[in-house]
Amino acid sequence: MTLPGHPFLSLHDRHLQLEGHALDALARQFGTPLYVYSRNAMRAQVRSYEAALAGRPHLLCYAMKANSSLAVLQTFAEAGCGFDIVSGGELQRVLAAGGQPGRVVFSGVGKTRDEMRLALDAGVRCFNVESEAELLVLADVASAAGRRAPVSLRVNPDVDAGTHPYISTGLKGNKFGIAHERALAVYAQARALPGVEVVGIDCHIGSQITSASPYLDALDRLLDLVDALASEGIELQHIDLGGGLGITYTDEEPPSPEALVRQMLERIDARGHGHREVLLEPGRSLVGNAGVLLAEVLYLKPGEDKSFCIVDAAMNDLMRPAMYQAWMRIEPCHRHDGTPRTWDVVGPVCESGDWLGRDRRLVVQPGDVLAVLSAGAYGMTMASNYNTRPRAAEVMVDGDRVHLIRERETVPQLLAGERLIG
Ligand SMILES: *Cc1c(COP(=O)(O)O)cnc(C)c1O
Repeated sequence: MTLPGHPFLSLHDRHLQLEGHALDALARQFGTPLYVYSRNAMRAQVRSYEAALAGRPHLLCYAMKANSSLAVLQTFAEAGCGFDIVSGGELQRVLAAGGQPGRVVFSGVGKTRDEMRLALDAGVRCFNVESEAELLVLADVASAAGRRAPVSLRVNPDVDAGTHPYISTGLKGNKFGIAHERALAVYAQARALPGVEVVGIDCHIGSQITSASPYLDALDRLLDLVDALASEGIELQHIDLGGGLGITYTDEEPPSPEALVRQMLERIDARGHGHREVLLEPGRSLVGNAGVLLAEVLYLKPGEDKSFCIVDAAMNDLMRPAMYQAWMRIEPCHRHDGTPRTWDVVGPVCESGDWLGRDRRLVVQPGDVLAVLSAGAYGMTMASNYNTRPRAAEVMVDGDRVHLIRERETVPQLLAGERLIG
């Protein structure tokens, strides 16, 4: 029996399994806290995007800030993906994982000159430029290096993605992108700069978007600009529609990647732009439901008002609940009989905001392993060492194979770069 929204997670003989591997056994083998990912779940999501894109020029750029572990990048590179990066460090990860720089788009509002130079030297596919000031600096850096930087302007289409304010990026008040009404002027400016070559247009309106309509609104706004640019003699090679497709955490019912992309391509074709290359930058929808975070129950603290289930994973391992009040499903890895009780599942970090789930009906006892589902995206990449907690280990399952893809961090590693005075 698979879990709704999690086709690679199943309940077998009361044990929760990922691609057929019992999660409590993996927790015992590798220790906790532990991230476990299904490689075939990632591949299946790529296939869903690719099914809609087949037969047309396109590039699926995995937005690697969602999960940038090398073996994850390797999985996407092998599946034919490019990458959407937001720092020079991420570019170095792509190269270390065997990805091709010619399939990389470089996003972000605060690229430094050093990062621009690194990306020019590596030969990235495109810079997604987010402001006029950045455009001028990029032109300068490229000219000094005797190059022309391929650019796309990230336009802020001013549409409401209907998502959490912290992960909404396409509204006027956001720091991202160039205002829609400024775009034509900035393109004209870009065309006149010798250090840059205009190749595309992009937008990214937010994250965890669960319906197609904001995408279609943004797309229409973008195509209006593409038409206006063409009438001024500026022909764009590609249209990059960003990422942001949501996943099922609880009862959300987002369209499948294939269904969403089909609707967008229909609109592109209907408006006569079917010949242009389409780029997409999905992050969460490629990895979110491919991963779980495993934690062991340390102590139970039943109380009159609140009962606490204290586990060995915390906000430093998984920030989403503390940062966005995100609801993430929590399942015991081995179900046993008993009367469920309502627990707040919390970590050991000294903050009241350190919780993974509130008011959860669970049958638990110390020593049990709990799985936080949908933890493949914005989990490990947002982990910190707060409270001097080494970061978790990561495991990737792939059919009958199990790979340790990141060793558990150690305290000596945390202290290695520090110096006493004297
Ligand atoms: C974060 C980000 C994405 C990916 O967003 P998801 O919601 O994870 O799909 C894509 N493009 C840009 C520019 C981003 O910043």
